Amino acid sequence: MTTIGILGAGQLGRMLVLAGYPLGHRFRFLAPASDSPAGLLADHLAFDYADKSALEQFASGLDVVTYEFENVPVEAVRYLEKFVPVYPPPMALEKAQDRFVEKSFFCELDIPTPKFINGLPSAKRINGYEMDGIGFPALLKTRRMGYDGKGQTIINSIAELGSQNLNEMILEEFVSFDRELSIIAVRNKSGETKFYPLIENHHQDGILRLSLVTGNVSTELQLQAEEYATRVMSALNYVGVLTIEFFEKDGRLLANEMAPRVHNSGHWTIEGAVTSQFENQVRAVSDAPLGSTSPLGTCAMVNVVGIVPEVEFILKIEGAHLHLYDKAPRPKRKLGHITFVEKDVETLHEKLNEIRKVYDQF
Ligand code: AMP
Repeated sequence: MTTIGILGAGQLGRMLVLAGYPLGHRFRFLAPASDSPAGLLADHLAFDYADKSALEQFASGLDVVTYEFENVPVEAVRYLEKFVPVYPPPMALEKAQDRFVEKSFFCELDIPTPKFINGLPSAKRINGYEMDGIGFPALLKTRRMGYDGKGQTIINSIAELGSQNLNEMILEEFVSFDRELSIIAVRNKSGETKFYPLIENHHQDGILRLSLVTGNVSTELQLQAEEYATRVMSALNYVGVLTIEFFEKDGRLLANEMAPRVHNSGHWTIEGAVTSQFENQVRAVSDAPLGSTSPLGTCAMVNVVGIVPEVEFILKIEGAHLHLYDKAPRPKRKLGHITFVEKDVETLHEKLNEIRKVYDQF
């Protein structure tokens, strides 16, 4: 039995615990808010991440620490490492927390990304070389703390750029992509590595609404994504689940961002894969053999965002797996998800159309 500490106590932490209990593990959370979705399921220390004595109290008796969101302060994770192993390695957090560092890291590893530039200290640079190839419209993104489309602005002209504070920003090429895909990879301490099939993702307002695994991705693209994930994991001596989000454009993959954790686009794996991303994360950090990542059918995951549809209606749809996160409804807030695992794409779309009768936000 392993006692696993988790930094953060949101829905991802909740699903990690639900996957880890059957394997005989114990869990403890550290997160500032006391009313978090995972708090009901395991011990929860409600302290700030900067509180060193709380970190020590948290670490006491733990075998390993992991995290369920990537904005945990790196200093907290480095401090914890003095007492207990932390996976994925803190370096992965450092790369993922800053869009400029992250995209530069992709470039170092020869992984294609949308064109980007960091900050724009003067108009001369805007008109000069650095602007080349990006053009308008472009996306201005905060380097830090941006997620679910937060911290992003579309910029249509140099005039619009002029009024922005560009110091802590990157300006990025707007990619008219064919679709968005993500790869979820997992590596354990012994270096065993597995990959889930590429997932097709649909967003609205920067928020993931629908993920599909329907077998409509070529082997070539799958292998390309696996190769890119392998480069990232090798460079970081990675342990745990890693997600990379891509844009597919003319048959090529461009890496948008990575998450050193289980990911929303992988929730379908709970019912739709032999081993879920959550169980594989637990296996990886506790140095167990990884489970099969094979899909069990044609899968869809619908995010429940902002409002919860009528539960009874959802449960009446055969094959609907409803997960609610015990969060108060708020616009744009992820409150739950619904998964289907079906034998073919037609049946899958019939089920999605059923859901649309009461919930059409995807
Ligand atoms: P992000 O916060 O970078 O994950 O972006 C959220 C969503 O905004 C992405 O999933 C895309 O749908 C969209 N997006 C982000 N960057 C770009 C880009 N460079 N070009 C076009 N769409 C983008």
